[in-house]
Amino acid sequence: MSGKGLILLYHRVCGPMPDPLLLMVRPERFDAHLAMLRRTCTPMALSAMVAAAEAGTLPERAVALTFDDGYADNVRHALPLLERHEVPATVFTVSGMVGEPTEFWWDELERLVLCPGSLPERLCLTIAGESFETDLQAGAVYGQDEADRYAAWSILLKEDPSPRHALYRTIYFKLLRLPDAGRWDVLRQLREQAGKPVAGRETHRVMTADEVRRLDASTQATVGAHTVHHPRLSNLPPEAQRSEISGSLAQLEGLLQRRVGEFSYPYGGKTDYDEHSVRIVRECGFDLAVSNFPGLITRGTDALQLPRHLVRDWTVQELQTHMEEWFAA
Ligand SMILES: [Zn+2]
Repeated sequence: MSGKGLILLYHRVCGPMPDPLLLMVRPERFDAHLAMLRRTCTPMALSAMVAAAEAGTLPERAVALTFDDGYADNVRHALPLLERHEVPATVFTVSGMVGEPTEFWWDELERLVLCPGSLPERLCLTIAGESFETDLQAGAVYGQDEADRYAAWSILLKEDPSPRHALYRTIYFKLLRLPDAGRWDVLRQLREQAGKPVAGRETHRVMTADEVRRLDASTQATVGAHTVHHPRLSNLPPEAQRSEISGSLAQLEGLLQRRVGEFSYPYGGKTDYDEHSVRIVRECGFDLAVSNFPGLITRGTDALQLPRHLVRDWTVQELQTHMEEWFAA
């Protein structure tokens, strides 16, 4: 009788810092998560879990860890803990961001809008050819005291405690729908009006090529592909999807000098990619691909659309409670 597997999705191990999209788990909590997983589950590498599921030999309470995006804190904070607890993880890296001084677009928006600084009282932007204007008034100047006061705010909360938070929310959802070039055009306008430098924050950077190689060299970490630019694949025609998917494969295989067999769909919800994405992933020769909707891994699970469960900055008790629900589903 084969057991059931659970794939956990993390993004960042760092902080605590303002985290409007709830991507961070602080290192001491991640440490506790790993100790609990080692004690109560069977941690496995993702590829081993998929192979065991297909062979019908999945152990009880099998767990595989994954990280999306390839933040530098994965090698700095997560890797030593993965090695100490002997828990393997796959880190899906956005290949076109490796070594770049800029931040991901969602972090760049946070840097420009929710970090201390000034914006015009009447902010004017052109978004996808349409003019967007808003009166920031008292929100034009945003100080450290306000940033500290609202450090725990996230986009999941219904209330926007300041005009800056309302602006962040509005622009975030507008950018989410835009192609990559359109996003960076809006962010450039915002950056110029904020008078901030192009280079991003050290705390929010992606791994360098050396760090990607160092991570992949660990017995507890495997690097996988996550496209070149992190587009919403379902917004793209098939040929553009192919260049994002096969381009990230070629870049990472060149960087690592080995075959790369694992892929993660950006955003990963059922509408964030389409049947062309799955076909192209198969044609590129990937062994497995992970999505971002909940579910368990069993013998019949599609290896090119593996469900995952998102982990937040939870205490070990909170994670345990969620995992009991997930395993019971
Ligand atoms: Zn991602």
